[in-house]
Amino acid sequence: MIDGKALGALVRATLRTRIAQSGRKVRLDAVLVGNDRSAAIYAQNQAKNCAEAGIEYHLHTLPAASGYDEIAGRILLMNTEDSIRAIMLHVPLPAGIDAERVQSLIAPEKDVEGVNPANIGNVVYGRRSLVPCTALAALEMIESTGITLRGARCVVVGASNIVGKPIAVLLMRSEATVISANKFTANISSLTREADVVIAAAGVAALVKPDWIRPGAVVIDVGINRVTGADGKGVTVGDVDPAVAEVAGWMSPVPGGVGPMTVAMLLRNVAEAALR
Ligand code: NAD
Repeated sequence: MIDGKALGALVRATLRTRIAQSGRKVRLDAVLVGNDRSAAIYAQNQAKNCAEAGIEYHLHTLPAASGYDEIAGRILLMNTEDSIRAIMLHVPLPAGIDAERVQSLIAPEKDVEGVNPANIGNVVYGRRSLVPCTALAALEMIESTGITLRGARCVVVGASNIVGKPIAVLLMRSEATVISANKFTANISSLTREADVVIAAAGVAALVKPDWIRPGAVVIDVGINRVTGADGKGVTVGDVDPAVAEVAGWMSPVPGGVGPMTVAMLLRNVAEAALR
C-alpha cells in the first residue's frame, strides 16, 4: 500500500523545517464564499494542516449572496497585496457563479492550486512550480514506489482538465508512454492490462477490477465516491476495487491515499509560491 497519510505527514515535516530555516513568514490566504458545509469542514482541516507545516492560514469569508463582481474584486485585491503570496478558492461557489472564471483571475504566481490556465500551460511547457495538487500527489506517489517512469507504460483512466489531463502530461514529461482514456474509450481493460502504471481518476466507484491489472503494476486511485455501504450508511470508496490489492505490486488506498497527499502538495505549493 502507498500510504498517503504517512507520505503527507513527511511532506509537512519537511516543509516545517524548510520554512523555519528560511526565517520567513509563509501564509496561505483562502477565500470561502457562502456556507457550504463540506467546504467549511475542508477549510477547518486546512487550517490544522497549515499549522502543522508552520504556515499561517488566513480565511477570507464572503457572504453566500456575493455576486461574481464581489468575489472577483476580492481576488484582484489579494493579487495586489504584497503580503499575500498564496491564494486558493474554496469550491463550490454559490449557484450561478462560474468557478473557473474566478480561478482564472488568481495571479499565476500566487495560484497554489494550479487552476489558472496559465499554470496548466506551464505544466505542458515543463515548468513544474505550481502544478495542480492532485496531479502532483499522484506523481509523487508513483515515484515513491521507486519505479522508473522513463519508458514505462502508463494508462490514465479519466481525462478532466484538473485531474486526468495534468497527470497524463506530468507522466509524459517523465518520458513515460502514456494513454489517456475516457468514458468513450473502448475496452479499457485491454489497455490497462498492458500497463506498468494505472491511474484511476474517473469518479466511478470500483471501476478498475483485478483482471484489469498486470501482476505487480502500480495502481493509483484518485477517485472519491460516496456510496451506500452494506450497513446502509454512507461510505467513501475509490475508483479501484479493493480486490485489486491482490494483483497490484503497489496500490494507493481510499481513503488515506491521494486525498491526504493532495493536501500536502497544496502546502508545498504554498511554500514554493512564498519562498521562490
Ligand atoms: P470529472 O467528472 O471532471 O472527469 C471524469 C473523467 O473520467 C472524464 O474524462 C470522463 O470521460 C472519464 N470517465 C467517466 N466514466 C468513465 C468510465 N466508465 N471509464 C473511463 N473513463 C471514464 O471528474 P474529476 O474532477 O476528474 O474527478 C475524478 C475523480 O477524482 C472523482 O471521483 C473525484 O471525486 C476525484 N478527485 C479526487 C481528488 C483527490 O484529491 N483525491 C481531487 C479531485 C478529484
